[in-house]
Amino acid sequence: MAWSISRNRKNIESLAKLQRSFKKGQIVDPCSDSSAWYKAYGTGTVTFPDGKLRILSAGTDVAARRGCQFNLSGAKTLKIRFYLDNHTDMYDIQFYFSNDTTYTDYLTYSIRFWRLSAGWNEHIIDANKLVVRGGGSLTREIVSMQIRVLAYEGKTASATFDPIIRDESQRGKVIFMFDDGWDSQYTEAFKYMSKYSMPGVIAVIPTRVGTPYYVTMAQLKEIYSYGWDLANHTQNHLDLATLSNPMIIEQEILLGEAWLNANGFSRASNIVAYPFGSYDNRVLLAMQSRRAGRIVMDDTVTQPPPDKRLIKIQRADYTAAPDKLIGFIDEAANLGGVCLYLFHKIVSGAAVDNLEYNVDFFKQVVDYAYSRRADIDTVTFSDWLDSCGL
Ligand SMILES: [Zn+2]
Repeated sequence: MAWSISRNRKNIESLAKLQRSFKKGQIVDPCSDSSAWYKAYGTGTVTFPDGKLRILSAGTDVAARRGCQFNLSGAKTLKIRFYLDNHTDMYDIQFYFSNDTTYTDYLTYSIRFWRLSAGWNEHIIDANKLVVRGGGSLTREIVSMQIRVLAYEGKTASATFDPIIRDESQRGKVIFMFDDGWDSQYTEAFKYMSKYSMPGVIAVIPTRVGTPYYVTMAQLKEIYSYGWDLANHTQNHLDLATLSNPMIIEQEILLGEAWLNANGFSRASNIVAYPFGSYDNRVLLAMQSRRAGRIVMDDTVTQPPPDKRLIKIQRADYTAAPDKLIGFIDEAANLGGVCLYLFHKIVSGAAVDNLEYNVDFFKQVVDYAYSRRADIDTVTFSDWLDSCGL
């Protein structure tokens, strides 16, 4: 029995790798050599707890630097991964790859606070989007590297780094996700995407189903039978982080999940979209036993996600032309990441707020995702988690 279970697990894992077409990259720097890295400047520390480079800022720029000798010629992507002990007080993390030791000619990339989340963070950088300073060049030797960390003034925060990896690659994904269960998600989104047999995801609020402007139970049954995920948007759509009683947090999640299960919609009932994207440590604790949680922070998602409880999105900003949304598909395809769109109502005429997106623009985005099917897969949330072995 034990044998068959572990055997089965192995099969699932190799299948997951296959679906992601995962190709291991090369290490650019392990971020673990305490004899190479040193503090170049700033108020704070550079240490190596558990053998990993940790940079702590006490409210001013702190830079760790090392000499090196490598070449990024032909590099497509760089993967960076770091752990934040206190993400709300961190302002900026910046990477430098310099062609000289005086930092006259270098390439740089910065990650600001709005892209930082609690715990492990992971980003894949398109090598062509590194910012060039002076005569910085991918094709010349990189002789010095620097990572600079900056906490807000008067605050202390640290980042601990995993190896920097070059050219890890896998197949990108697109996920069309729709929050709240508005009726146009059936009449417009589901109807149009069915033309291409493309699945999507609706985050359902059970207490709104069958009320004016929302989907009906019959529509949800049809949508689900076509392979769409129905995820949990909680029972009453309350702002979870503002609830004073942690029991209510658990109850809001539990009731939404139980409603989906009771109606035969179990495929994604353990995936939660936090109302308003709002969460705190109590919410994350309640999420320990769930499959995944989705926040409202815009970014391309890496695979597997660094924290399954904090999955990011690409918001369909109502002012955005389809070209902007289409760009997120290109990025996910180039980086081997996930473009997880968040839509609400799909409307005819001009969208007037962030709960709306124009239907003709929406169709152009769907058409584009379909046209890129040789390079990127449109999947459900649960399909994607399956492919990551989560
Ligand atoms: Zn919502």
